[in-house]
Amino acid sequence: MELASLTASLLTHLGVATDQLDRGDLAVRSPIDGGTIARLAATPPADADAALKRAHAAYLAWRKVPPPRRGELVRRYGILLRQHKAELGELVTIETGKIRQEGLGEVQEMIDISDFACGLSRQLHGLTIASERPGHRMMEQWHPAGVVGVVSAFNFPAAVWAWNATLAWVCGDSVVWKPSERTPLTALACAALFNAAARELGEVPKGLLEVLVGGRELGTLLADDPRIAVFSATGSCAMGKALAPRVAARLGRSILELGGNNGAIVCPSADLALTERAILFAAAGTAGQRCTTLRRLIVHESVCDALLERLHSAWRRIPVGNPLDPTPLVGPLIDSAAGTAMDAALAEAREEGGTVRGGEKISVPGCEGGCYRRPALVEIPAQCAVVKRETFAPILYVMRYRDFDDAIALHNDVPQGLASSIFTRDLTEAERFLSTTGSDCGIANVNIGPSGAEIGGAFGGEKDTGGGRESGSDAWKAYMRRATCTINYSGALPLAQGIRFGLDE
Ligand code: NAD
Repeated sequence: MELASLTASLLTHLGVATDQLDRGDLAVRSPIDGGTIARLAATPPADADAALKRAHAAYLAWRKVPPPRRGELVRRYGILLRQHKAELGELVTIETGKIRQEGLGEVQEMIDISDFACGLSRQLHGLTIASERPGHRMMEQWHPAGVVGVVSAFNFPAAVWAWNATLAWVCGDSVVWKPSERTPLTALACAALFNAAARELGEVPKGLLEVLVGGRELGTLLADDPRIAVFSATGSCAMGKALAPRVAARLGRSILELGGNNGAIVCPSADLALTERAILFAAAGTAGQRCTTLRRLIVHESVCDALLERLHSAWRRIPVGNPLDPTPLVGPLIDSAAGTAMDAALAEAREEGGTVRGGEKISVPGCEGGCYRRPALVEIPAQCAVVKRETFAPILYVMRYRDFDDAIALHNDVPQGLASSIFTRDLTEAERFLSTTGSDCGIANVNIGPSGAEIGGAFGGEKDTGGGRESGSDAWKAYMRRATCTINYSGALPLAQGIRFGLDE
């Protein structure tokens, strides 16, 4: 079936009204063959304003609903996601170009976070803190924050939004979502399934989820609007640098999930067979278009040649092709601009003395309009400017080290700080990497690649990655406001710090 018809049929199964697929100027293209699969109407500013009003009204009502009831909505959403996993996964593949396994994995991640959020709805808890004053009790309460604005990236068009939205809903917030202009269809499908869950539950305020379709102007609108209590933005460092100051100018709260430039250190004692498999998934998977993609390999000189031999052999055999077919492990890049950026980075690496293997254009029969590249392996003598930049494509730079301290310094010497790994069977090296003086990233793994995180942990990174945390652990706290409350049941009025203050009787 032609991709546009397949897309329309999937969207119909997922509950999206298909009359909206051909009524606007925003052309949505599938990276599989570069063809247009829909033309949507972008949300005009007046409609965005109306959506924000509905979202704010929804928050005012939803915050009064007991959290476990809010969790019930998310539980039902998770059930619908299970029932529609195949169709939604396929839509993700068509819109992003990631292979079927990864499209399905993305939906599974949404199911997992729905389960997590549902459980959390019975666990939103605060501390009781010892008071210095007799007859007093001090405690923390967590209240809904308000409307959460979510700006999302093309490469995880559903899961990263779900990390935000499911937590926000159980926390008592409403959500206004501006998906990437390159992947709005997945957003419409996620919203249709959410609306179905809301109808099933009943008594869910309208406006709990609003989707704004369009480009950067809508991201800016959300960043500037004081009705957005929490602004959660996922995308490039450049986007974060453009929008975070706007949120800060109105003293708003941001959660920033920005670019990564993830490294792995391979030590002399590493299990090279395991290391090779981990590197293959982390560097070539998702065609190098994960924020956590492995981009920099720092290998001890004693094992570097042996590892490179394995990697060269693996890289030559990576099947690249149509992600809807069963065999390819690597699909297309999102568009031709991504291919141009990859070519430019490889040219720069050559000028810096790098030896490039792979990276060639590939013509995939039936998909001539897509941008397919063989993943590239680049041995490079130093961590020069091109290595320090995130090129959102499958390029793995390989550097050698002799001294472990130098390896850690090299690893941390990039602007980004998202995910990191070490491959070693030496406990002291592993512990050192995870310690205060080791990796400076938000995610640090041992004998696992940097990508493919589970939802149970908090996800995010430091430095230019933006400092935000989403998903598991206590990331929910960012979607609530904390009130410190002190209750005096003593009948007297002792002041903190022993201050005496009062008029003589
Ligand atoms: P992008 O920055 O081009 O776009 C992301 C979103 O921000 C889109 O919705 C876009 O419309 C909006 N946007 C971009 N620039 C803007 C501006 N100046 N003003 C207003 N809105 C703007 O990113 P992308 O190409 O879609 O995604 C790839 C990038 O996202 C990579 O850098 C990747 O590392 C990063 N990413 C990070 C995470 C994370 O959790 N840290 C997850 C996924 C992707």
